[in-house]
Amino acid sequence: MRVLLTGSAGFIGSHLTEYFLDAGHQVIGVDNYLSGQRQNTERFLAHPCFEFIEADVSAGLPSVQEKLDWVLHFASPASPPHYQQFPVETLMVGAQGTQNGLELARQHGAKFFLASTSEVYGDPLVHPQPESYWGHVNPNGVRSCYDEAKRYAEAITLAYHRHHALDIRVIRIFNTYGPRMRADDGRVVTNFVSQALAGIPLTVYGDGLQTRSFQYVDDLVEGIVRLMNVTHHTPVNLGNPDEYTVLDFARIIRDRIDPALPIVHESVPADDPRQRKPDISLAKQLLGWEPQIGLERGLELTIQSFQQHAKLSEPPRPA
Ligand code: NAD
Ligand code: UDP
Repeated sequence: MRVLLTGSAGFIGSHLTEYFLDAGHQVIGVDNYLSGQRQNTERFLAHPCFEFIEADVSAGLPSVQEKLDWVLHFASPASPPHYQQFPVETLMVGAQGTQNGLELARQHGAKFFLASTSEVYGDPLVHPQPESYWGHVNPNGVRSCYDEAKRYAEAITLAYHRHHALDIRVIRIFNTYGPRMRADDGRVVTNFVSQALAGIPLTVYGDGLQTRSFQYVDDLVEGIVRLMNVTHHTPVNLGNPDEYTVLDFARIIRDRIDPALPIVHESVPADDPRQRKPDISLAKQLLGWEPQIGLERGLELTIQSFQQHAKLSEPPRPA
């Protein structure tokens, strides 16, 4: 297969690139490094089946001569501090970037895969969240640049399916973590791990009783690959239903690294969802999929990789 993957220099994009190359496929990665990392491109540049194009997918996707089998649209800042720093770019990559990807897939007779998000459920009034829930989103709050862009992205993707018979897949990804996240992306996993490794207090926003459910990245990649191999056109939740309060999550990470560290409370960001947990019945039934990597193991792998990365980035000691 030949796949074009937008957002290839991002956290999830880099894991997908690795999976496809290891499976013997050709990958054309596209990214503008808005929130990605150059090292996520550099690690694959020597691979004969990898090609990288630096481009803003909202402005247009590069024309590709060879026939594409898939266009996978993963480009978009995903961390709340990132997308709130780039609200217009986030709206554009969800809107124009998605349409550019859909058009490219249409030209090539390729299939189109959209990375949507649990954020389409907003601050949910239904718990856990099944795909049939329409969500509870503030349409003009500080998170709306991301939530509404992804809701629009789903809408236009389904419109291309209904109107142009494009073969599509849509996933709603719930909080996913693992190696190669940007240590400074401001998300809860990276903040807590980086803070604990640096020996500074862990910052819990608000009372910490809001909940999240954390999926290890390898489980997500497995779910994505399984969905590519079945025909199903409506959104599918991919997440780990193991739910934690943010405060308990801070304690778990703190206790693994340095139980003596304090946990401090800071103000809660606007429109922070109070609870989130995927209903994964559809993925189970459709894909025979469920997460295999629990929080203990996933955190062990993530913390190890952060430690290694910190060592590699240390300046050389003077002789
Ligand atoms: P990330 O920020 O690490 O990666 C996103 C990548 O997209 C970055 O490399 C960034 O530079 C690139 N990008 C952004 N705008 C672009 C543009 N206009 N043109 C080209 N490249 C652009 O985030 P991630 O965690 O890897 O998320 C990847 C995808 O998965 C996103 O679409 C995100 O919305 C979705 N998602 C992720 C999570 C999660 O928990 N990680 C949860 C829900 C949805
Ligand atoms: N959070 C926190 N401390 C941090 C970073 C985040 O308490 O240093 C909280 C945040 O308020 C939210 C949850 O952790 O309730 C998850 O935040 P994240 O930014 O990772 O992603 P979200 O699920 O909100 O998109």
